[in-house]
Amino acid sequence: MSKLIKKTFSGLIDLIFPEKNSCLVCGYWDESIGEDYICKECLYKFKNIKGHNCKICSKPLITSGDICIECIETPKSFEKIYTPYKYEGLIRDVIKDYKYKNKPYYYKMLGELLYKYIKEIDIDFDIISYVPLHKNKKKKRGYNQSELMAKYLGKKLDIPCERLIERVVDTKPQNQLKREDRVKNLKNTFMAVKNLQSQNILIVDDVYTTGTTLNECSKSLLKVEVENIYGLTIAR
Ligand SMILES: [Zn+2]
Ligand SMILES: [Zn+2]
Repeated sequence: MSKLIKKTFSGLIDLIFPEKNSCLVCGYWDESIGEDYICKECLYKFKNIKGHNCKICSKPLITSGDICIECIETPKSFEKIYTPYKYEGLIRDVIKDYKYKNKPYYYKMLGELLYKYIKEIDIDFDIISYVPLHKNKKKKRGYNQSELMAKYLGKKLDIPCERLIERVVDTKPQNQLKREDRVKNLKNTFMAVKNLQSQNILIVDDVYTTGTTLNECSKSLLKVEVENIYGLTIAR
């Protein structure tokens, strides 16, 4: 078998059959893992966002106010970002592997973590959606990591998951840009593809960095008069 066929074949098998009871991060096998796909030790290394944090973007705060300086200076088009983990250490490596190392099946582990997290929170939404990739990028990567998690959540929560936003411009990757250039880079990049008056939307993304992507997506949805927009990411 050529290397490429082998790679594609094993990727496909993994996508359909990640082995139950095994930790996708370290490979440890234990019956208690079940369909969580993560062992207790690896999960313990994911650091939760705890304590006093910004009520809009969840950034940990050292001062006594409710909103961080960034959210005051750049008002957000979404209501709030929900996110369970700090983007550091093991979870950071896991997310990078999920996005860049052809591990689409990680959505099972990460989707399950998001599912457990969202069940604990009192939020009301009618539709789940996700940050879209431009079609060229999706073709290259083979999958949209946020879409896979959103669909998993939709199934588990029995809430419709729909493609609501399109990325109409193929932009530079945001992680290579400074904050002010991120906003310019994404201006007019997203377009709502459906009329959604008075609906509450949950948009899933992988990581919250400066919030530019989720904010631009939210702006496109506000143009079609949605009610409230919430964001959900694995880490920030
Ligand atoms: Zn493990
Ligand atoms: Zn904030």
